[in-house]
Amino acid sequence: MVKTYPPAKLKQTIVERARGCCEYCRSQARFSTQAFSVEHIIPVSCGGESVLDNLALACQGCNNHKYTKTKGRNPVSGEMVSLYHPRQERWQEQFTWNEDYTIIVGLTPTGRATVEALKLNREGLVNLRQVLYAMGEHPPLEP
Ligand SMILES: [Zn+2]
Repeated sequence: MVKTYPPAKLKQTIVERARGCCEYCRSQARFSTQAFSVEHIIPVSCGGESVLDNLALACQGCNNHKYTKTKGRNPVSGEMVSLYHPRQERWQEQFTWNEDYTIIVGLTPTGRATVEALKLNREGLVNLRQVLYAMGEHPPLEP
């Protein structure tokens, strides 16, 4: 038998906690063609545990770009800084939207490094945000 991770009940808790949104780019699972994943904020390979405090809901794009990264380069200073940690930091303190809600802007070194490392303004996301905003479906509620 194939063991699936995380167990359905744990995944449900994580999806509800995230209100069905990617905890990085704020994409909504209900408008995605690909299933969202539960990702380890600190990777298992770096000692991260499979506990609620180390798990986050992520879209496939963010999950792929994050991979096992925990640090990224702050594009302003060039120094390596910690990436955004959805359990220890608040999204709205690290990021904001531009005036038409299509671009995520990093407010802090961590925010800016995360925008770059996870490519939070991928073309498809920006286009989708534009369409959803026009339909009154974006941005999602504050996390
Ligand atoms: Zn995402």
